[in-house]
Amino acid sequence: SSSVKLLKWENLPALLPKRDPNANKGDFGKLLILAGRSGMGGAAMMATLSALRCGCGLTTLAAASSVINACFPHLMEAVTLSLAETKDGAVSSESLTLLSEHLSSSTAAVIGCGLGHDEHTEKLVRSLVKETQTPLVIDADGINCLAGDINIVQTAKAPIILTPHPKEFSRICGKSVAEIEADREQAASQFAQQYSVHLVLKGHATVIALPDGTVYQNTTGNAGMAKGGSGDVLAGMIGSFLAQGIASEKAACLAVCLHGACGDRCAQRLSEYGILARDLIQEIPLLLRELE
Ligand code: AMP
Ligand code: MG
Repeated sequence: SSSVKLLKWENLPALLPKRDPNANKGDFGKLLILAGRSGMGGAAMMATLSALRCGCGLTTLAAASSVINACFPHLMEAVTLSLAETKDGAVSSESLTLLSEHLSSSTAAVIGCGLGHDEHTEKLVRSLVKETQTPLVIDADGINCLAGDINIVQTAKAPIILTPHPKEFSRICGKSVAEIEADREQAASQFAQQYSVHLVLKGHATVIALPDGTVYQNTTGNAGMAKGGSGDVLAGMIGSFLAQGIASEKAACLAVCLHGACGDRCAQRLSEYGILARDLIQEIPLLLRELE
């Protein structure tokens, strides 16, 4: 429809704040990432590394103990919070109190990348989303954990950005993937307005829909990014900008368009076949250099 605003590389310099020369790390926010379960540690690692590359002051990865043990040698700049693990390799719901404390002292959080979806995780995610006032990015299994009771996001106290791909979106909006894909802007916008959330509907030409009815359509990115891990990188990027105090609309637009531009630059060099999610993360600082 005609009210859709195109999101282009040229829009990004205005969205990226200058860093105050007198600043210290406390001025650039504290991001908490709750991600990963056994077998999905890569998702947690990529969300964390991409958050670090987007300038957040302090980034903490909270995950099941075996995930932390596997990831921490690669996450030198991150803080890790090792959580009790169920026998199935998920974060135990026993960790709710500890996580709530960390969440309340964070300026933003990312919940869900590779987190898994079982009874424990669902209980944990629902409780955290219900009670927190900290701005949230909810991705992947974080979304799946809310699917049975999506009204939680409407009554939540915190600003929420949901980042589903069409299948995840289908689980929370009650439409089939085919219905969603037939009019992505309409489906995303209707949901964002009804539930008062920012919705990032991923895929080719990612749609960003705001609670006030504003809709953006991204113009960067390519099919080389249709691989496991790309979405985890995006979630970390949005979370990092959000943690730094950038408002939801700007944080989502900046991250989505920059993420796609990273994919385009990587594909020029490495081909759409050959690019990996980790290449996107390496490209972030090179493109930020052009925006600064
Ligand atoms: P996920 O499905 O969670 O792994 O996220 C995939 C990421 O790659 C999202 O940011 C998508 O927008 C992006 N992506 C996937 N396929 C394409 C495509 N065909 N064109 C552009 N971007 C894509
Ligand atoms: Mg994903």
